[in-house]
Amino acid sequence: MKAVVIGGGLGGLATALRLRARGWQVVVCEANPTLGGKMNRFARDCLVFDTGPSLITMPHVFRELYTAVGEHLEDHVSFMPVRPFADYHFSSGAHVLCPAGIDEWRSVVGELEPRDVRGVDRLYEVGRKVYELSARTFFRRSPLSPPSLRELMAFRFLPLRDAWGNYARTVERHIRNPLLRMIYLRYATYVGSSPYCCPATLLVIPYIEQAFGAWHVQGGLYSIVESLARLAADRGVELRTSARVAAIERNPQRATGVRLADGNCIVADAVVMNGDSAATAELLDRKVEIDAASRSMSGVVLLCRASQSNLRAHHTVFFSADYAAEFDQLTVERKFPEDPTVYISAPRVTDETASSGFFAMANAPAIAKPWSGRDVELAIDAVRRRLDTAGIHLNGEDVLDVWHPGRFAQAYLAPYGSIYGANSHGWRNAFLRTPNRSRDLRGLYFVGGSSHPGGGTPTVLLSAGITAGLVDGDARA
Ligand SMILES: Cc1cc2nc3c(=O)[nH]c(=O)nc-3n(C[C@H](O)[C@H](O)[C@H](O)COP(=O)(O)OP(=O)(O)OC[C@H]3O[C@@H](n4cnc5c(N)ncnc54)[C@H](O)[C@@H]3O)c2cc1C
Repeated sequence: MKAVVIGGGLGGLATALRLRARGWQVVVCEANPTLGGKMNRFARDCLVFDTGPSLITMPHVFRELYTAVGEHLEDHVSFMPVRPFADYHFSSGAHVLCPAGIDEWRSVVGELEPRDVRGVDRLYEVGRKVYELSARTFFRRSPLSPPSLRELMAFRFLPLRDAWGNYARTVERHIRNPLLRMIYLRYATYVGSSPYCCPATLLVIPYIEQAFGAWHVQGGLYSIVESLARLAADRGVELRTSARVAAIERNPQRATGVRLADGNCIVADAVVMNGDSAATAELLDRKVEIDAASRSMSGVVLLCRASQSNLRAHHTVFFSADYAAEFDQLTVERKFPEDPTVYISAPRVTDETASSGFFAMANAPAIAKPWSGRDVELAIDAVRRRLDTAGIHLNGEDVLDVWHPGRFAQAYLAPYGSIYGANSHGWRNAFLRTPNRSRDLRGLYFVGGSSHPGGGTPTVLLSAGITAGLVDGDARA
């Protein structure tokens, strides 16, 4: 049996490896000259940056992938715990260091507002329940397969108002301290969504970070891509780069392969779309308007030389003065905020020393209007102003590379540059993402952040497990 995978992102590579391990012949077609998709790398002036993910959660999911293909994770990549989790700075000048470990964190919370210790416990309790249910159902199989009666019964125990209500309102109901509120609100942005619009089930995100830790990878996260690509090539997966797929070929019954932009065709028993699922219609020559407002957020990323660094932690967050106003601008006005919250990742080379470069990111809306040079300049200025107030002064030469929604859109063929496919606003969007198997074209499958169960590196690997299982299961049925 032969599968063709459209896109060599993390999800595409993981699916290819899993299918190969089950005896499939696999061809991966990646439009870019390099593999990895959004898990990308940039090098300049002896500095090497991850340009995409900077934080890994649920490392066991990565281990599962290697185990599934008969390897040991430790033989390929070294995961390193990130401690403390983050250093949070607020516009008032206050800051909160978030240690790894729930007991340590509870004492920090207790000093800020003793009554919030219970609130924090409550938020983690909701997150834990959502996680435990999802670990058996949502994270492990396609939304097309119905849950068992026992699993459905378990949903009865989800506290209704807390889990199914609005994320921000739930946080605000349980947490009094304004700084702690902002810290918890920010977790919704891990999947490119606004805390003011998504359901409280996303409390699973802070729970996962507490329960399984925050991780980095020695040599940078791109080492994961290198390791998967090496394994895939060694095992005979055909990895074609600079190979953009222009169309999915089909007969009236099913998908039969792909046609590349250079005109070459690849015939296959299964076609797996790893690019943004919203772009599939175009490959099928169907006209479908993609609504920019339904997309998850994009970002503005600055890769900087740290000529003067007072960053004390691997992850540092500089909050805007008014978080609600920032999200109003992002999701209602749909423009880059005048005062953005800026996240910095400055990987620790050793426990004491940081590398001499850092990655700074602010959320940006995914909008249909192209980003002009002026839009990019204004966004960089806004990021700079926020960092200035925190004593980090970036001059022109310090910024080595800039990513913005227009560039994300172009580089990864991601409509409007959104990073996580559709947003998770409303429980329907949060739960009902593109299913892993096409509803209307046999032989067509989806994998990756824009499809079930959602974006972020571990979730993408879960998606690959589900999709490879469906492809192989359907062929053997
Ligand atoms: C700035 C940034 C920060 C992030 N931070 C984190 C983080 O800290 N932690 C975390 O877990 N996640 C993070 N993410 C998200 C994470 O990177 C993604 O969820 C994940 O890498 C997506 O993998 P994927 O396989 O779904 O898709 P992608 O990485 O998008 O790969 C899809 C690939 O398909 C290719 N493609 C698309 N269409 C075609 C076509 N027609 N023909 C051929 N090729 C095609 C694209 O070029 C691309 O290479 C971040 C992402 C970004 C951009």
